[in-house]
Amino acid sequence: MQQDNNMPIIEIDSKSGFCFGVARAIKMAEQIISEQKPVVSLGDIVHNAEEISRLEKFGMSSVSHEHIQSLGSKTVLFRAHGEPPSSYERLQKQGACIVDATCPVVLKLQQRIHKAWLEMAEKNGQIVVYGKKGHPEVTGLVGQTNGEAIVISNTDDIRSIDPSRPLVLFSQTTMDLKGFEAIRDSIRIWMNPGVEASFHNTICAQVGNRAPHLRVFASKYDVVVFVGGEKSSNAKVLFNVCKEVNTSSYFASSALEVQPEWFPLNVKSIGICGATSTPLWLMEDVAGKIKSFFMP
Ligand code: SF4
Repeated sequence: MQQDNNMPIIEIDSKSGFCFGVARAIKMAEQIISEQKPVVSLGDIVHNAEEISRLEKFGMSSVSHEHIQSLGSKTVLFRAHGEPPSSYERLQKQGACIVDATCPVVLKLQQRIHKAWLEMAEKNGQIVVYGKKGHPEVTGLVGQTNGEAIVISNTDDIRSIDPSRPLVLFSQTTMDLKGFEAIRDSIRIWMNPGVEASFHNTICAQVGNRAPHLRVFASKYDVVVFVGGEKSSNAKVLFNVCKEVNTSSYFASSALEVQPEWFPLNVKSIGICGATSTPLWLMEDVAGKIKSFFMP
């Protein structure tokens, strides 16, 4: 949108913003709130502090897993990342009402991992998950294997894999493809010859498709502002994609963090984009702030 002679073109990427799974979880939370029922999210519903604070104003609260007992029989929402079986068991025992907003893509992955784990048990095999140790989605995935899956975050971690036992590799849904391929290739070399190993790229298409799209988007503008939460691993991955193709890319978690010095006087175009956990309203806020820098 061209505003006037001094105003650069400021555009929000139409493909950025909540992925299907996060949008669905937030819609479910909003639905319960609209029915005037108090709802507690087990862990942050989305890795975005601004969106959490918006939902808190409407009456949603969140509780960390250490305080699961304090939830008693309340209505508890499971976020898109999913939960291990132990969370279901515990809350059911307490008489809590579970609203399960686990993303269907994550749910399917949990089921695949559980099935592979049962199959591997018969062959003395091992389940490996490429992901971030301690990430809530990974905790839910490892829970499908009675805690036995090996989590690896980089090629150094491969040493924890027994090269003499069969193996099945899966990926956390938000990991990056290059990292997955590097892990897969290193495992191939690490395994003893003839030992069965199968590899499943389970990176979500909603994440996988964004990286190539952002590469094109970020290269079209003089300056790029990436909007994302500090805690979001997806935001870090996608911001780095922008930075690779456009060195004038900046990270902001809210409009307050946007700095006027990011925009040189001769800037002609500014692109705004975000992660799968970034709400559209936040990118619009950032656009408004940038616009204000160019107002007379
Ligand atoms: S990134 Fe994909 S798997 Fe993860 S919540 Fe979004 S849609 Fe679901």
